[in-house]
Amino acid sequence: MLAPSEILSRLERLLPTVQKPGRYTGGELNQVVKDWDSVKTRVALVFPDIYDLGMSNLGLAILYDLLNQCPEVLAERAFSPWVDMETAMRSIGLPLFSLESKHPLIDFDIVGFSLPYETLYTNTLNALDLAGIPLFSSDRTAKDPLVIAGGHAAFNPEPMHAFIDAFVIGEGEEVIHEIVSVHQAWREQKVNREDLLHSLAGIQGVYVPAFYRAHYNSDGTFSRMERLWEGAANPVIKRIVAQLPPPLTRFIVPYIDTVHNRIPIEIMRGCTRGCRFCHAGMITRPVRERPMDEIVNAVEQAIAQTGFEEIGLLSLSSSDYTQVVDLVQTVNQRFVGRHLSISLPSLRIETVSVDLMDAVMDERRSGFTLAPEAATERMRRIINKPVSTEQLMETARAIFSRGWPTLKLYFMIGHPSETMEDVQAVADLCKAVLAEGRKVLGGRATVHAGVSTFVPKPHTPFQWVPSETIENIRAKQGLLKRQMHTPGLKLTWTPPEETLLEAWLSRGDRRMAQVIFAAWQRGARFDAWKDGFNYQAWMDAFTETGLDPAFYTHRQRLPFETFPWEHISTTLRKKFLFDDYLRSQREETLDDCRQGCFACGILPAFAGVRRQHPGDIWKCPDVSPRPQMKAQDLTKSEALG
Ligand code: SF4
Repeated sequence: MLAPSEILSRLERLLPTVQKPGRYTGGELNQVVKDWDSVKTRVALVFPDIYDLGMSNLGLAILYDLLNQCPEVLAERAFSPWVDMETAMRSIGLPLFSLESKHPLIDFDIVGFSLPYETLYTNTLNALDLAGIPLFSSDRTAKDPLVIAGGHAAFNPEPMHAFIDAFVIGEGEEVIHEIVSVHQAWREQKVNREDLLHSLAGIQGVYVPAFYRAHYNSDGTFSRMERLWEGAANPVIKRIVAQLPPPLTRFIVPYIDTVHNRIPIEIMRGCTRGCRFCHAGMITRPVRERPMDEIVNAVEQAIAQTGFEEIGLLSLSSSDYTQVVDLVQTVNQRFVGRHLSISLPSLRIETVSVDLMDAVMDERRSGFTLAPEAATERMRRIINKPVSTEQLMETARAIFSRGWPTLKLYFMIGHPSETMEDVQAVADLCKAVLAEGRKVLGGRATVHAGVSTFVPKPHTPFQWVPSETIENIRAKQGLLKRQMHTPGLKLTWTPPEETLLEAWLSRGDRRMAQVIFAAWQRGARFDAWKDGFNYQAWMDAFTETGLDPAFYTHRQRLPFETFPWEHISTTLRKKFLFDDYLRSQREETLDDCRQGCFACGILPAFAGVRRQHPGDIWKCPDVSPRPQMKAQDLTKSEALG
């Protein structure tokens, strides 16, 4: 393998020939460079998309910081090279390398992929290939790095089971240290790779696919997951932290523009709203808030250490943070005169108070974002986002009257039982909101409607429903394009082919790994990019493997069907999800569970963890005192509730 000095020398030759060389140099403020030879374990953290996107990924930044806090460990970053750089790298035999020390990835002990969404799968294969690491887990030997992956997409790991040695299910903050310890112990004993996998499978929240075999029914549906080793967990229960660890403040400051040039501070994890389409809301329960003083202190430290001028106070539903108005006002007061801009993504329409709007007023006041997700009250009841149209209009009026000229509205089409009238309502609602803005701001008011297409996700109440067909998506998008061709109204949408890809992969089984591999061989990569997505490569891959894409997307799942992801437990009971699906068919809603617990399954599964933090940090009710139990001690029945 090439030495770092040789990689650096070849890289210097390539940089003047590619777009945005700053993606590949490293050397930014706050990067951590440790002595390669003085640590026991070297971890490469890979975001399988370009630097500009990956540098805004908070999960990657948190793991980088946590690992580098350990004296015995170093963590370095790697990203997918853009197409021009990949071509250049392959032409001169330059392997994928880490930004910090320029070591090739194959020299690391552990290579960890961040998989927040499914359209990164072919890029993951490409990164392994560029690194010279065998693509298939079964082809790796004790000399190869351990390849792990985590992130929201890992809650259905099966489509990637062949390529990843071990998946982290759930929150990685504690698990990553346990993986490193297991790896260190294994290396000292110098035993075979199988022993390492056995030890990893013993960590709660770690799934090692090699210890399971999938079985299918004669009609092609999934039948069961057989354990090939009795020590392998079934189900594999997700891992959570009892309390959010102190926020990261020492962010790396890129030389080039990235997607978000801001300090991201996670104020709360999980969501109690129960939107039925929302994968993140289901898999990240329970809600745990971060104390306000911890957030304010973190903002102070992060500004001092990075110089950023924008703070993102992040969560799945930031306006649900108990003290959100106090928090924003306190940050404003503490940093008055520093030209700080505060962004609060993911605001709930019904909780955006006038006080909150006043508090987040920033000097730029460029755009305000709301996500009604559907335009009729019927449809919003079906998806369990029961805000009234009047409430939405009132909030929109208040936003325009406070001087925001642009209101961004996010919708989805393709929800279960959606009609063309529901789609027409999106256009009508956007025009009505624009008209309100025009009353207040005249021609300055604009509405930007972002309309994506719903993809049914595993572990949600909608995991049983079919995805919309490409013909219907086109018809619905065509209607919106015709109806929303109005000055002041901007419409953006997701290409239907991209939606189908996400749908195939989201609810795929182990057989989908052949399709991913075949698509990658045909040149599929950067599937999340309009100019990178190669639909034909995927269709050809399905043809080659003999699998029917419609089987994964357009099939209504039977009530009693076993899903290929059921051995991965979010701890939400299947009955809870199914009852909620039935409730959606009756157009009934479920309240915010902070007002009353609906027994989703979290509490019995994590009662021991809950007891470690009685009181207000968790938004689930307290559980009765009992001797403390570790998450690792959970039994299957407790986990499944
Ligand atoms: S246990 Fe109850 S309060 Fe907690 S997330 Fe589930 S339904 Fe909500």
